[in-house]
This record gives sequence, C-alpha cells and structure tokens, in this order.
Amino acid sequence: MKEYEVFVAGEWVDTTVGFSSIVDPATGNEVSKVPALTAKHVDAAVQAAQQALVESRWSTDAALRADVMLRWANQVASNVDTLAERLTLENGKLLGEAKFEIGHQVNVIRFNAGLARTVSGRSHSLGPDVMGVVVREPMGVVAVISPWNWPITLMVRDLAPALAAGNAVLCKPASQTAGVSVEFLKLLVECEGLPKGIVSMLTGSGRKVGQLMVEHPGIDMIAFTGDGSTGKQISRDAADTVKKIALELGGKSPFVLCADADMEKAIATLVRAIFTTTSGQICTAPSRLLVEASAMQDVCQRLSQAIAGLKIGSGLDPESQMGAITTRDQYEKVLSFIDRGKKEATLVAGGEPVEGVDHDVCNFIAPTIFTDVDPKSPLMQEEIFGPVLTVQPFETDEEAIKLANDTPFGLASAVFTQNLDRAWRLSRGIKAGTVWVNTYNRFYAETEVGGYKESGIGRMAGFEGLNEFTQTKHINFDSTV
Ligand code: NAP
Repeated sequence: MKEYEVFVAGEWVDTTVGFSSIVDPATGNEVSKVPALTAKHVDAAVQAAQQALVESRWSTDAALRADVMLRWANQVASNVDTLAERLTLENGKLLGEAKFEIGHQVNVIRFNAGLARTVSGRSHSLGPDVMGVVVREPMGVVAVISPWNWPITLMVRDLAPALAAGNAVLCKPASQTAGVSVEFLKLLVECEGLPKGIVSMLTGSGRKVGQLMVEHPGIDMIAFTGDGSTGKQISRDAADTVKKIALELGGKSPFVLCADADMEKAIATLVRAIFTTTSGQICTAPSRLLVEASAMQDVCQRLSQAIAGLKIGSGLDPESQMGAITTRDQYEKVLSFIDRGKKEATLVAGGEPVEGVDHDVCNFIAPTIFTDVDPKSPLMQEEIFGPVLTVQPFETDEEAIKLANDTPFGLASAVFTQNLDRAWRLSRGIKAGTVWVNTYNRFYAETEVGGYKESGIGRMAGFEGLNEFTQTKHINFDSTV
C-alpha cells in the first residue's frame, strides 16, 4: 500500500487533507491512498498557474519548454518498470500492456518537445502600408481531466501538447488510477527548469474537484477525456465562463470484415482489440463486428476458437492473457449488458462468470459474443466498455456503411479486405475520426485522433493536437498617413 502526496501550486501538499483509497481490481486489496483535495487547493493551483504564466518565461521561451520536456521524457524512460507495476495494480491491465503504455509516453513527450519549437503564425501584406501579423499564443491555464482506462496515455496526450504550446496545466487524474498518475507527474514537476506553478496535480472526485475546475473563472480551457454523459455535463458547466473545451468521448466502433480478408490476421487483431487489450475497456474498442454474410459462419467459429481457453487473471501474473475490469461499477455495468443480451439475442460464447475467483471482490469477465441483436437495442447503440462483441452480417458495401454509421458515435473503425478499391470506398463512407485498414489500435504521436458525432469535439495528437491548445491573435500594423 502506498500513500501519496500531491504537488499543488509549486508545493507538496501535506497529508492532513482526506484520502481516497484505490483497490486492486484483481484482488480487492487496497493498494494506494491519494489526497482528496478541496476548493482551496483548486484556487491555489489556479492562482499559482496564472502567476507563473506572467512571471516566468514559460509561455514565451520555446527552447526552455523543449528542454524541460526532454528531461521529463528521460526520467520516464528510466522509470518504466516501477510505474507499470503501479498501473497494473490500480487498473488491472496486463503488465505487458502497462509497460507499453508507460514506455510509449517517452516517444509522445519527445515529439511534443520538438513541436514546442515550431509554434508559429503568419504575416499578411494587407496594403502598401498595412501588415497583419497572426500570432499563435497559448490558451493560458488548461485543465486536463482524464479517465482510468489508459490513464497515463490519455493524460499525456493532452498534457504534453498543452505544455509544448506554453500553457500552465492542472491535471485531474481519474480517482481509480490517481496513484500511478501522481507518480508519473512527480517526474515532471521535479524537472530542472520547470517554473513553480506551471503544473499542479488536483486529485479528488470528479464531481467535486473536477466540477470546480470546469466552473473556475481562472481556467481558460478544459481538455477532457471520458464518458459521453460526463462530457455533456462539462459542456454545460463550462458554458457560464465560456471556456474552450476539447472532448474525447466514448465509441461503439465498427470492424468491417469482408469475405476476401486475411481471416487469420483479422481474427487475431479483433480478439486483441475487443477482448485482451484492457479487457475491452478502451474507447476505440471494435465492439461491433460487421461481417460479409458469406463469411458469417466461418468467422463466428474462428472467433469462438480464438477465445476458448484464454487465461483471465491478475495482470501481474505472466500467464494471464486478459486482466480485470477496472472498477466495480464498470464490472456490474458490463454484466447487466450481458444479462440483457442473453434475453434479447443469441449468445455465441462467454457470458458466464470466470471460474475459480471470488466474484465479490475480483472483477473478471469472460469474452462474450452475441449475434441476432436488434440494431436499435442498447447492446448495439450504447458503449458497454468491456469484453462484449456483437456480430452482424452485411450483404453489400452500402449496407456495411449504413450499419457502421448507425450509432450516435464516430470515434474509430476498421476495414479488413484485400481489395484496395473496397478499402477506400468503405473508409470514405464511415463517419469516424480514425479508420484502420487491415490493422487496429495503431496510435502515433504524429497522427491526430478524435471523434465524429457524439464521440467528441477537437483533435488530439499530431500538429492539430498542439494547435488545439493555442489561440490566434491578429496584430495589425498600419502606417498609412
Ligand atoms: P468518466 O467517468 O467520464 O471520468 C473521466 C474523468 O472525469 C475522471 O477523472 C472523473 O473523475 C472526471 N469527472 C467525473 N465527473 C466529472 C464532472 N462532473 N466534472 C469534471 N470531471 C468529472 O469516464 P471514465 O469512466 O473514467 O472513463 C471511461 C470513458 O472514457 C468511456 O466512455 C471511454 O469511451 C471514454 N474514453 C474516451 C477516450 C477517447 O479518446 N475518446 C479515451 C479513453 C476513454 P473521477 O474519476 O473522480 O470520477
């Protein structure tokens, strides 16, 4: 069990405030304790951030920002194993996935450190004696509010470009994974050159600390990743202070599998993306498989074989192939969808509790597959966020596109085919921020992500991700006499 302090307004906060506990979802044991902060801390962090932006060179000195970020990246590279273990303890994901999650941030931070030195504007000759200069400036004080499923990835995805653009950032990690988030941020706040107040950690419940941040008049932008209903609430709460918001929300992503695809690769990719990666708790999870009708039977058989015998257990056990559902609430939510599916649809695989574990404290759910689901049923329309897959047949590409777009979401998707024309046509037809062709869940620091429709507002990662944390100002020079 680890007890954490947090860094607010340039100081480590003493532990006299209340704590919230984090339990390991694979065992039910308490593993971390993190301060539950109050309005006083939010105010102090905002004030220190505003002061730091005025008094330090952070927002104007790109080379300083790049240097600090490169130092941070090196620190992360030296601490992957310790951080990964804490991540697995709090989240339940496999240790290998946790190591990948932490290690990948080195690349993302370095990419953004490089981008820091590219922030630039334009100039326009607007007449013989008139010049318009459009400069790109930071937003100011940015709140980054992140979820528990890929807690470090999703915090850094906003934090790194926000810092690179010259903002001060207040991080509010998800309560379930706050310990590993604090440990990760410690490597940043202790970096030489980072001005006091530019980064603070605001741990505590979303409904309290998170909402205070959203409503705070001293915060200029909210970068939120999480559930759609929370995102909608944040939009409403941020409206009174007319804040910029970037929302990365849920998904119900379609995986379009054509009969001519490399089936072995497709099935292995799908099983990884919807079942074994984070037990399906990933916003881009391909939870709806659309299969060309002629391949339906073969695909269902292959899928059932691929998941039979998968070892589900603690993420720290090297033999586990799939970990736990991270929170008890999420575990119960997934089981209620499965119960509904058993009544309304045909269960092809799974749907039963995992054997040999204490179901009162261990959150394990077997990979579950349904067919014959009503397309308008919540099973097909709502994000389940767990290892549950629905399978639907399609006859034509037009039908595949129609089914793919038949939800309120538009986060990600995949097309598996060996026919380039079909891949292009289907990719253009699907309304989603990402279409993977013959692959899935490939993320790069260079390429943007974001949602169509109710999956979000704005783009993260890549060049657009940096611009998201800036605003333009037109400075007009007129020497006309
Ligand atoms: P969540 O319940 O919306 O929580 C996300 C964050 O918001 C947490 O830090 C939470 O704090 C905080 N929060 C809760 N209510 C708040 C409020 N009223 N005001 C301000 N902050 C508030 O989401 P989650 O359950 O952690 O994450 C799962 C969801 O995230 C899924 O829907 C998934 O699809 C989505 N997601 C989207 C992406 C993407 O890139 N589009 C990526 C990953 C996940 P507490 O933890 O203290 O409640």
